[in-house]
Amino acid sequence: MLAVFAHPDDEAFGTGGTLARYAAAGGQVALICATLGEVGEISDPSLATPETLPEVRAEEMRCAAQILGVSELVFLGYRDSGMAGTTANEDPRAFANAPESEVLGRLVGLIRRWRPQVIVTFDPEGGYGHPDHIAIHRHTVTAFHVAADPVRYPGQGPPWQPARLFYAVIPRSLFRTMRRQLEAMGHAGPLEDLDLDKIGWPDEEIHLSLDVAESVEAKWAALSCHKTQFGPDHPFRQLPQEQARELMSREHFVLAWPEPETEVHLADLFDGLE
Ligand SMILES: [Zn+2]
Repeated sequence: MLAVFAHPDDEAFGTGGTLARYAAAGGQVALICATLGEVGEISDPSLATPETLPEVRAEEMRCAAQILGVSELVFLGYRDSGMAGTTANEDPRAFANAPESEVLGRLVGLIRRWRPQVIVTFDPEGGYGHPDHIAIHRHTVTAFHVAADPVRYPGQGPPWQPARLFYAVIPRSLFRTMRRQLEAMGHAGPLEDLDLDKIGWPDEEIHLSLDVAESVEAKWAALSCHKTQFGPDHPFRQLPQEQARELMSREHFVLAWPEPETEVHLADLFDGLE
C-alpha cells in the first residue's frame, strides 16, 4: 500500500496503526511526504529552532517510518504552506503553489515504480482545511488515475492502475468523544474552539473502521517520534493513556474509488483483492 500525505506526522494519527498492521503482516508499505512541515509548531524550544525544524522533522519522520515498518519513504521536498491566510502561503516554494504537472509527474513515477494495490490520502477537506492537505489530496486523486494512462508521463514507467483509493478520515464522533472526555477532566483544551457539527467526517459516511488495536503500541511509539508536534499540550497526551489508546485503536476510511454504488462492507483495505 501507498500512503500520501503532506507533513511528517500526518501519517501517524489517522493511518499509523494501519501502516504498521500491513507491514507486520508482510505487506510492502510506502509513504510519500510532500513537505518537511517547515512552519509547524515546536512543542519544546530545546528540540529545534525554526531554522533546524525541517531537518529535525525529517528525522522524526524517519524514526516513525521505521517503527511503523514503512519500507519506502520519499520526501517530495516542497515547503510547508502554513495554515490558510498566513504569509507562508505566498512562498513560491510552498507546496500549495507547486505546479500540478510537476507534482503529478513525481507521484505518477512513484506509483508506477511501486505498483501499490491500495492508495490512501487525505479527504477533500484535508481533515481540517490545511492548504497542503487539500493540495496533496487533489494531486493524489489525479495521480491515481493518470498513473494508469499510457499517454500521460510516458517517461515515468509503464502504466499502473491501483485497485482502490481510500481517504483516511477522522469521524465526527471521535472529536465529540474527545471533547467530552477532556471536559470531564476539567478542560476542553485545544478542542474548545472546534465546531463539532463541522469538524471530522460524518460517521454514517465512513466505509471502513479498521481495528488496529494490535498495532496501537507501534502507533503510539511512532507518534512519540514526532516530538516537536506531539508535546505535552497535545490533546492525546492530556487524556489518560487508556482512553487515548482506545480512541487510537480504530482507523477510519472512505472508499473513493471504485466509487461505491451500493453499501460498502469491507473487512479491511485489501478485502476481496487478489
Ligand atoms: Zn499536516
